Amino acid sequence: MKILQDGDCAIYMIGGGGMGVSHPTDAHIYLVDGGTEAALIDAGSGIQPEWMLNNIREDGIPAEKIRHILLTHSHWDHARGCAWWQRETGAQIHGHPLACDVVERADWSHSHIARRGAVSEPAATHRRLAEGSQIQIGQLELHTVYTPGHSPDSISFFTQFGDRKVLFSGDTVFAEGGHGTLSAATDFKQFLESVRKLAALKVDVLLPSHKHFVLSRADRHIALLEKKLSSTWTRMDYNRVPFFPTWWLEHDETLYNDALNTHEER
Ligand SMILES: [Zn+2]
Repeated sequence: MKILQDGDCAIYMIGGGGMGVSHPTDAHIYLVDGGTEAALIDAGSGIQPEWMLNNIREDGIPAEKIRHILLTHSHWDHARGCAWWQRETGAQIHGHPLACDVVERADWSHSHIARRGAVSEPAATHRRLAEGSQIQIGQLELHTVYTPGHSPDSISFFTQFGDRKVLFSGDTVFAEGGHGTLSAATDFKQFLESVRKLAALKVDVLLPSHKHFVLSRADRHIALLEKKLSSTWTRMDYNRVPFFPTWWLEHDETLYNDALNTHEER
């Protein structure tokens, strides 16, 4: 599904369990087409990845064009699919050093899928991204912003796309001031600093890893989270649980229980 186009460059959504675009366990997966080559933002859960491959074919993009996979972080709904995509396309995998470690060890022992006995496959990583790293994808230049908080290895990717500033925010910021799961291990001051960094970018387009995306004035959505986090907390809403264990991530398990039970793990 094409989201944006500028000349030879385009951005597609090719996966997204919450939006019914691919397997229910997938985070949103975007394809960035820089004209001569393309990159995936995250790789998905690795369950029925053929679904996403089919989406790419329907968009008219040859899978061999995918030369890179950029990881927003190592949670299994984003990164467990790395090995499959690497085999399918030969793409090089880049991420935070901690995320690269997880992918190379296939260390998703705390995930839903591991709790069901599924084995995960490791993948080789190519580049350990530093703060402010530049990644050239054809005509497009992506920049990394370290955004720890949701996880210690969270990275956001920023690019100038035509006249629009585009941000891939992973699970750090969602639309309407939302954010990914936080746990007792979250360093809230660090998380606030991460959100402030993203707010300062004043982006037009927000492409997060869950919930809906925003195509204009996205800076307002990020500013909302900055405001929420900067407020003094005086009470807790009893109808809302603010923290979940880290294995919960962004999916309600009841949404994909059937899909997992019927899936024959490879
Ligand atoms: Zn996550």
